[in-house]
Amino acid sequence: MRHDESVPPTPRRPKPAAAAALTVLCLGIGLSGCGGDSGAQAQPGKGGDPAPSSAAASAPASPATPSPASTSPAPSKKPASPSPSTPATASGPLSGKTVVIDPGHNPDNHLHTSEINRQVDIGTTHKECDTTGTSTNSGYAEARFTLDVSHRLRTLLQAQGAKVVLTYDDDRAFGPCVDERARIGNKAGADAVVSVHADGSAVGNRGFHVILPASVRGGGADTSKIVGPSRDLGTRIAGLFVRATGSAPSNYIGGNTGLDTRKDLGGLNLSTVPKVFIECGNMRDPKDAALLTSAGWRQKAAQGIADGISSYLNG
Ligand SMILES: [Zn+2]
Repeated sequence: MRHDESVPPTPRRPKPAAAAALTVLCLGIGLSGCGGDSGAQAQPGKGGDPAPSSAAASAPASPATPSPASTSPAPSKKPASPSPSTPATASGPLSGKTVVIDPGHNPDNHLHTSEINRQVDIGTTHKECDTTGTSTNSGYAEARFTLDVSHRLRTLLQAQGAKVVLTYDDDRAFGPCVDERARIGNKAGADAVVSVHADGSAVGNRGFHVILPASVRGGGADTSKIVGPSRDLGTRIAGLFVRATGSAPSNYIGGNTGLDTRKDLGGLNLSTVPKVFIECGNMRDPKDAALLTSAGWRQKAAQGIADGISSYLNG
């Protein structure tokens, strides 16, 4: 979910140049024919404000803002499920690379409101440990969506020889909090980190966007070294996500470029390794929800993210 109580974005009407921008996005990374379109881009956003208020009204639990973390890791729920079927192969185009995947939120966060509402330090400010995330109108939880896509992504990356670490794997009672999520990527010495989410916004707001870290320095936050590589990582993921899913970039955030830059997310501010968030679509829009609830589309989404990561890591 779009994580942002403070500054609700002003929805922009897609400009005629949007398709051109998308092509530039794809060409920028030397990709032809990735201007797929699910029509989302064609319809101007209804200017839905993704601010929590609107989402909270319809979402089963309070909307998500990935915010910072408590120091004590959340008590574990059950042992992590071993990666499904594809053990990491020693060889492959990504062998020797470490990728950290952060499934956004936790399906049980709503059972631990006092724990997740605890304020923690994200360098420049304090924010709550974690949030519940949004869901579709039919009740498919964002936190379930993010775990599903993360598992598919892990399998795809392991098949290319990458070492893949999940920040949590449905094995925590709540959280982890966002500063711990950032620390896991830092400690792993990740070559790339992707935080997987889906948005909760007004009907008519459609499409995906990738959130890049802004240049932030304050307290324990210093993104100066990761801004450049994260933009490269994010641009490749955006272009290849279009190609794999046929979905167009968001028509309400990022001016149809599929990219947005933020300075208020603890998970980015505290990262010392290249990291981006991806909002895969709007769970509250019926057309996007039909995609997000489809296993086939989620596999394509994972493929697009994996392609973007591989393209970045293989330079
Ligand atoms: Zn989210």
